[in-house]
This record gives sequence, C-alpha cells and structure tokens, in this order.
Amino acid sequence: MKQLLLNPGPVCLSERVRQALLQPDLCHREDEFIALQNNIRRKLLDVYALDEKQWAAILLTGSGTSAVEAMLTSLVPEHGRVLIIENGVYGERLTHMTEVHQIKTCSLHHEWGEAIDPERLVNIISDNQDLTHVALVHHETTTGRLNHLAPLAEICKQKNLPLLLDAVSSFGAENLDFEDWGILGCAAAANKCLHGVPGTSFVICNREHLGQVKPEHARTLYLDLNTYLDSQDTNGTPFTQSVQCFYALDEALNEFEEVGGWQQRNADYWQRMETVRNGMEQMCIQALIPKEDCSCVLNAFHLPDNISYETLHDHLKRNGFIIYAGQGGLAKSIFRVSCMGEINDNDMHRFISVLNELVN
Ligand SMILES: *Cc1c(COP(=O)(O)O)cnc(C)c1O
Repeated sequence: MKQLLLNPGPVCLSERVRQALLQPDLCHREDEFIALQNNIRRKLLDVYALDEKQWAAILLTGSGTSAVEAMLTSLVPEHGRVLIIENGVYGERLTHMTEVHQIKTCSLHHEWGEAIDPERLVNIISDNQDLTHVALVHHETTTGRLNHLAPLAEICKQKNLPLLLDAVSSFGAENLDFEDWGILGCAAAANKCLHGVPGTSFVICNREHLGQVKPEHARTLYLDLNTYLDSQDTNGTPFTQSVQCFYALDEALNEFEEVGGWQQRNADYWQRMETVRNGMEQMCIQALIPKEDCSCVLNAFHLPDNISYETLHDHLKRNGFIIYAGQGGLAKSIFRVSCMGEINDNDMHRFISVLNELVN
C-alpha cells in the first residue's frame, strides 16, 4: 500500500517531480548544470517576487538545518551579537548552533507553543544595546504555531536589527514580506512546502548586507554562504551539488508556479487542514493551538484519552497514513498532522474516517 506522508517533510512527490529525478547524469562543472542552477535560483526569488539585483538565492546541498546553520555562521560578523527568540524546538536549535560556533547571543525564551511577546522583545532589545541581529523561526513546527512576524519585525526594524529567519517549514505556503520585515537571510529547503526532494536547501539573502564576514574570519568552510554566492554568481559551484535533487526542485518549482504560487498553496493546505480540524473536533480531539495562530502547513492535536501515540501511529500506518509524534516533553501528549505534498482533500477525509475507527 502507498503510504501518504502527513509528517512535516519529506513530502509525497507528484509523478512529474519523481520523473524529473531520472534525467541524464550530469557533471556539476558543465554548462547544463549551471543553467539548471541559474533557473532554480531565479525561480526561488520568483516565489516572493524578489528582485535579482537586491536578493540572492544561494543553493546548498544538505537538509534544512544546513541552510539555517549556513545563515547563522555566514551572516553574523565576528563582533556581532544575535538575539534569538525561542518558542519551540527549532528556535532552541538556533541557540544551540550559535553555541557550537561560539557566536555571541542573548536568548528571549518562551515556553513551547507560547506566543512571542512583543513587549518582552522591546525590553530585551533596550537592555542589550550591543545586539546586531535577531534570529527566529517563522513557523514553529514543534507545535504548528505560526509566529506573527509583522509586529515583531517592526520592533526590530526601528532598532536597525536585521532578521535571520528559519522559514524551512513556511517558505512557499505562508506570506513572507522580505522588504518590509527587514529580512537579511531566510533559510528553507526543497522538501517541505515546495514539494521537492530532500537534499537541497537554500538561503535567500539581501545582497546589500552580504560579505560582512571577511574570508579570514569565516566560521565554516563547507557552509560559508559568501563562498557559494561568489561562485554561483559567476556560473560555478564550490562543491558537488545534489544534481538529481536539483532536477526535482526545478520541476517542483515549475509545478508550484503553474498551480498558482504560495497563495494557492496556502489555500489548498487550509482546505485540507479544515477537513482535519473539523474531523478532530467531531471526535472531541482538541487542537493544541487556536486556528488563527496556526500555520496552514501543520497542526498539533492532543492525544485522545487512553490512546498512546504508538497505538495511534500504528493504526494509521496500517491504513496508509504516516503522522508525526510530539518532540521532547510533548511526546506523550500530542501528535502532529501536516498537509504538505501531493495529497488532496479526499485523502484527508479518508484519514479522518480511519482515525474515527480507532477512537470510537
Ligand atoms: C524541518 C525543519 C528544519 C530542518 O530540518 P531538517 O531535518 O534539517 O530538514 C528546520 N526548521 C524548521 C522550522 C523545520 O520545520
């Protein structure tokens, strides 16, 4: 039986994206590869209608975490100090990365699932005058909370603090206002809302503020975005790229554009998620976060009484659906359902009825 992936990436592929993997073998030093790379770079900027003169899409081979780590290590200069806003696993991972690389930071911690408090942001910024950047997660996949960035970005902008954004699980399905929000870097990956294959990730950077880390102060060799940018801007690549994943991402971006871009993807995901949320409500399974604070991409639910995650997971898997457990302290109390990938509303109705068999 075909398994439908309702986990937050990798996602079920469309047939055309799967077929794209079978294109000819290609050397990453040949013109054909460079054309492919240039196409993907342009199409990624097109997702949010960004101007090529001001913005650069930098392509990496690695999962989403590699793009996030590249962003933090390459964009914060030696004397910089980053404020990291945490309200879930991925925000805390940003802090962990800065510790590994000995980047100076300051954390604004919230409990997992809690909304980011703008007042606390204002206060911590005024108490720490040496801050140079603010890093945070757009959609906290830990809980499904979509952090409302506009008011937070406004506070940072007034203090001239550019944003470093982990948008791995929102890029392509939620609004991202690069100009207005003062985004310096935005990290994402091929295999979430863009419906590509795992193995390729990218950072969209504001060209004006690149190059602040001088080569002699680079914190990383493989993940240095400045190296990638110089090379990709001059029709090269510093290292071997995930060629087949590039083929798949290029085709996924064609499909993305044809179906109507991020706005349509947002509407499609919401339609599926409404089906899921309504079905859960009828089974008295409570959502963790109110709808207006959730992403369209993933929602979390409390486990039904007397049913363990393992029982739930195994029943759904036997019937062709893969769900996702809670992380850390939430492992025993919640489960997560994502709507990304080549699935449709009928699949979600079927998912609800299969779940209903177990619950009732
Ligand atoms: C999936 C995800 C990542 C990256 O995870 P990988 O396993 O490295 O692909 C980073 N941040 C967020 C918010 C995510 O959802």
